Amino acid sequence: MTDEPVHLVAVIGAGPAGLFAARALAATGARVVLLNRDVKPGGLAEYGIFLNKYKMKGGLRRQFQKILTDPRITYLGHVTIANKGDLTVQDLAGMGFDALVYAIGAQGTKYLGVEGERLPGVYHAKDLVYHYNRLPPFSERPFPMGRRVAIVGVGNVMVDIANYCAHFTDCEEIIAIARRGPFEKAYDDREFEDVEDAFDHALYREEIARIRPRLVAAGQDPDELLAALATKPEPLPRARARLRFRFLASPKRVRAEGGRVVGLEVEENRLERKGDRIVAAGTGELSVIPADTVVFAVGDRVDEAAGLPYKDGLYLTVPGEDPAAAYQVLDPAAGTAQSGVFVVGWARRASDGVVGRARLDAETGIKHVASYLASLPKRPAAQAEQAVESLRRTLAERGAAVVDYDAVQRLEAAEKARAAADNVEEFKFRSDREMLDAIRS
Ligand SMILES: Cc1cc2nc3c(=O)[nH]c(=O)nc-3n(C[C@H](O)[C@H](O)[C@H](O)COP(=O)(O)OP(=O)(O)OC[C@H]3O[C@@H](n4cnc5c(N)ncnc54)[C@H](O)[C@@H]3O)c2cc1C
Repeated sequence: MTDEPVHLVAVIGAGPAGLFAARALAATGARVVLLNRDVKPGGLAEYGIFLNKYKMKGGLRRQFQKILTDPRITYLGHVTIANKGDLTVQDLAGMGFDALVYAIGAQGTKYLGVEGERLPGVYHAKDLVYHYNRLPPFSERPFPMGRRVAIVGVGNVMVDIANYCAHFTDCEEIIAIARRGPFEKAYDDREFEDVEDAFDHALYREEIARIRPRLVAAGQDPDELLAALATKPEPLPRARARLRFRFLASPKRVRAEGGRVVGLEVEENRLERKGDRIVAAGTGELSVIPADTVVFAVGDRVDEAAGLPYKDGLYLTVPGEDPAAAYQVLDPAAGTAQSGVFVVGWARRASDGVVGRARLDAETGIKHVASYLASLPKRPAAQAEQAVESLRRTLAERGAAVVDYDAVQRLEAAEKARAAADNVEEFKFRSDREMLDAIRS
């Protein structure tokens, strides 16, 4: 590190957006403190990307390691910034950082308002994904999966949940439920390859026959779907479960008997063209899809309890055409930007795209942060170091068990040693307590 004067910036959240934001900031010469709720960095790259995508996760971890060993970046893990966190948004605002960049992802749950959505046996995809990827506290709670799992939504997260059900549970039937039709599916075909072995072609053909008149009425050609299916060889089933689709169905109510889920009541839809969009319109006809587990995979919203100005599932940014405005957090009382407070990644646009997109969003956001910083005086490097130490002291006084990057590396070494001893590809401790113990020993 040099003695050159610096700007001091806090990035909150060490998922892909926060990590790439930190790297872009450090490249401008800024001194960066990276605060992260989880013990380990990576966010959904560590705790979202599917269980056995070891190569992809390994590649990302190596990129993150390079960022986190940059001497201009200090990682402080296991620190939550929230109304009831180790620090509040107001605490941070009063600590004299030149800018604050929130990259805390979309941690809130999107409820559709369907009756029974909070019953046992009904899950929201993010919680289940965090559970099987071993993120505390979700890793410590049981998420029992039944034999017939209804998944609401047809995006890539549905594919991951279907993959989990088909290959890691005793599930026998997986029903992916879509409000609209097969032409409006949101998952990528490449991702779907992971569940092809469970995909039941005969049941798909039956479903296309069932909805054929409604597709034709919307000007769509069902035979295109059948022709595409015919190009795929009928899979040799490796999965225990079979995967089917139920199109043109909006969930209305989770049905339960004696406190146990028995099905999902849906309303049949038809398709209507609105301009260049195809929308679903209810027909009033209700039916029940038998299921003992329901998973909502319909995207997430940001966490209202973090303490940033919030409305309708998003943090408020400055309205207007200025490209920088969309990254600046709004002061709702003044109607202008909160000076020096920015938001990037899924915290800015909940559930929006893959790691590459979060990275691009962070890098674009940091260009705007850099223009903002250009108008501010820098401070001597030694003063910035004192500010970082003072933040550490404040956290210690508040009883936070802060985990720095050296500690994360010790933890990762302990997990690698366990994986080797157990002869498995990957091992993760289940709770924060176990992780902290492993770091100490
Ligand atoms: C199930 C699933 C599977 C996916 N699979 C893939 C895939 O295969 N390939 C791919 O490229 N992309 C995949 N993605 C998308 C990818 O994970 C996201 O694009 C990316 O992780 C978003 O990055 P982010 O940093 O904005 O948010 P996140 O990754 O959510 O990171 C947010 C970070 O903020 C921290 N944080 C949260 N709240 C606070 C707080 N209050 N205080 C302090 N820190 C906080 C968290 O600890 C976390 O580290 C998947 C996503 C999901 C949900």
